[in-house]
Amino acid sequence: SKVPSITLNNGVSMPQLGFGVWQVPDDEAAKAVGTAIEAGYRSIDTAAIYENEKGTGEAIAASGLPREELFVTTKLWNSEQGHDATLRAFDESLARLGLDYVDLYLIHWPVPSKDLYADTYKAFEKIYADGRAKAIGVSNFLPEHLERLLGETSVVPVLNQIELHPQFQQAEARAFHARHDIATEAWSPLGQGRGLLEVPTIVAVARKHGRTPAQVVLRWHLQLGNVVIPKSVTPSRIQENIDVFDFELDADDLAAFAALDEGRRLGPDPLTFGG
Ligand code: NAD
Repeated sequence: SKVPSITLNNGVSMPQLGFGVWQVPDDEAAKAVGTAIEAGYRSIDTAAIYENEKGTGEAIAASGLPREELFVTTKLWNSEQGHDATLRAFDESLARLGLDYVDLYLIHWPVPSKDLYADTYKAFEKIYADGRAKAIGVSNFLPEHLERLLGETSVVPVLNQIELHPQFQQAEARAFHARHDIATEAWSPLGQGRGLLEVPTIVAVARKHGRTPAQVVLRWHLQLGNVVIPKSVTPSRIQENIDVFDFELDADDLAAFAALDEGRRLGPDPLTFGG
């Protein structure tokens, strides 16, 4: 494949770039995921709450690829937290995907007000022990939530999928993850395609390399060591977003990106969301 892999803390390989399908309707997901697989993507990021596990699964089946060549991630929604509810929700996700295992299962949000994420994670450990998820991890966890899991459970999450882009660089979270051998996966890596791709610094770096703003932003993530899962339903952009492995940003470019951090989220605050 054209996408290099990273090795997770349990020895499993994961492509460093994958395809995200948030906000892709179920009846368009099969087409979009099919286009991505054709373009060379081998990792797909869905979630129960995206309501497109069925379409995603259809594209996987239609691809004809051996199952082990694909890396499929899904996530447990907030309303299903708790030990037994988690086991049921996982079965339902597998059924909708039409798979007998996922590569990665994530707790979508910690929802600290419910205080169920540690119990939920213990159910994840069972799913992992049964081989029905090849790896388990979390999403939107703050260091304090990870600390608690590290203290109360035995399988270290392989990664934390968090909001991360040049205007919200998450230096502290990344350093915490690195200390614990937890990979950092960036959601909304392109800043949801809103203002980020018009920021003059990014446009200038893109022009310098003869690339698009989206491509240099993805390159920035990859050089930081992040796993990225850009989303698009436009075939030319799906292609463009994976064509990022034949050039490199230099130290000047990286310094210019470092100055773009505004420390401001686009999405919800994990401390209060879902409560
Ligand atoms: P993104 O940063 O990937 O941006 C996607 C948008 O950017 C597209 O809808 C399109 O408008 C634009 N875009 C994409 N490619 C482009 C290109 N080459 N040129 C110009 N514009 C382009 O945003 P996202 O979808 O929010 O995040 C990516 C994935 O992350 C999601 O699909 C989902 O899988 C995951 N995610 C997870 C969480 C979570 O809570 N765990 C939250 C949000 C997203």
